[in-house]
Amino acid sequence: MKGLLKYLCLLALISSPGIGQQVPEKQSAAYLKEFNTVQEPARREILIENVRIIDGNGGIPVERGYVVVKDGIITAVEPGSASEEIKKRMSVTDAKGKSLLPGLIDAHLHSVNDNEFLQLCLGNGITTLRDPGHPFTFYQAIHFADAPLPRIFLTGPHLDYPPVAYGQEATLVRSNDHARQVIRRYAESGASGIKIYFRLPLRFYKDVVETAGAYNLPVVAHLELISAADAIQEGVIGIEHVTSFGTSIAGAEARADFEKKVDENNNARREERYRLWASLDMNSPKVGEVIDLAVQKNIFFCPTLAAFERQADSTGKEDFRVKGFKNMLKFVELAHQAGMKIVVGSHSSSLYSKHGWTYQREMELLRMAGLAPLEVIKSGTVLNAAYFGNSPRLGSISVGKAADLILVDGNPSENIAAMYNISAVMLNGDWVKK
Ligand SMILES: [Zn+2]
Repeated sequence: MKGLLKYLCLLALISSPGIGQQVPEKQSAAYLKEFNTVQEPARREILIENVRIIDGNGGIPVERGYVVVKDGIITAVEPGSASEEIKKRMSVTDAKGKSLLPGLIDAHLHSVNDNEFLQLCLGNGITTLRDPGHPFTFYQAIHFADAPLPRIFLTGPHLDYPPVAYGQEATLVRSNDHARQVIRRYAESGASGIKIYFRLPLRFYKDVVETAGAYNLPVVAHLELISAADAIQEGVIGIEHVTSFGTSIAGAEARADFEKKVDENNNARREERYRLWASLDMNSPKVGEVIDLAVQKNIFFCPTLAAFERQADSTGKEDFRVKGFKNMLKFVELAHQAGMKIVVGSHSSSLYSKHGWTYQREMELLRMAGLAPLEVIKSGTVLNAAYFGNSPRLGSISVGKAADLILVDGNPSENIAAMYNISAVMLNGDWVKK
């Protein structure tokens, strides 16, 4: 597929309109491909029976059913029990008392050549992830892994501008032409998305979105200084981090103060975003305006709440960070109520989760923000598959899709905390943890 993508890109470049406008015709690739080669599927049929099926689409679970997997693909999803005929031919897993879900998809996970961490995440149910914004070389180790890894989608270095926050991880865009060149190079290097970072000036957005669009690459953004409303108007499809909405909601004075401090010093954003969010009025009409815009433009919103979570101290005292976080939760609740597509991204670690379990903490926080358990599961599976341009292939328990599946003890459709009880993980049609 990487070869095919390269070929398509080359074809597109040959037929492109001319210097300065080298934007290829839109490709009709069925889906974007992960950067790594996942393990070969088992060459036997596998039956998982007596299991509650939570297919990821958000509907009522099948309380007792079975699923058949062959050559890495789901070939049957049925209520009731499999016939003796089927059972005889297959390797059978009796999953009584467990729930079967699609493998979890993490839209925001950073890991620098750390295969052990990725293996830990896989064992905890994450079968697919995207790293929004590291150089491709930060993932060289995946080609030398000694154990299975999740499907890894990469965006390449994020696009930024001086004075840069993470110089080693960024490409600094010099001009609109340069932006187009960079994206073409990323696409040929195996990017399956493009990430904008917070210093990139708005004047580059249009070319970034247009060139990425020619390769079907979603453009996602982490914002501080550019408002989410402006980014969305320019065609960004994904907003990473709840904090990216801050300046769209703030009053003029608070916004100017925040922008001035962060513009002077990149590191000021860490504290100032909490001060800004603590001061925001969630009843302001600005909240509804930016949410309506995002809904209308079909934006994917990856709040990464776990990364920002702050709890009151042991005496119950709430500082501005705790107040700021409460408003972030409230904003996600309002966005969800209005129909925004919310997806799960762990951001790798948080203050309130054990190493490797931040995804589950993010699920709990989305539950606190008012998503029903089945909606949280849909956010982590079906919606993320769409966000990754992979709806035909990943994200639900459906005939014809890749067999990335997890078994969970208990019933997460009633209690999302059950997502900590991952008892088995299947990747590409074979068990990697059982
Ligand atoms: Zn990040």
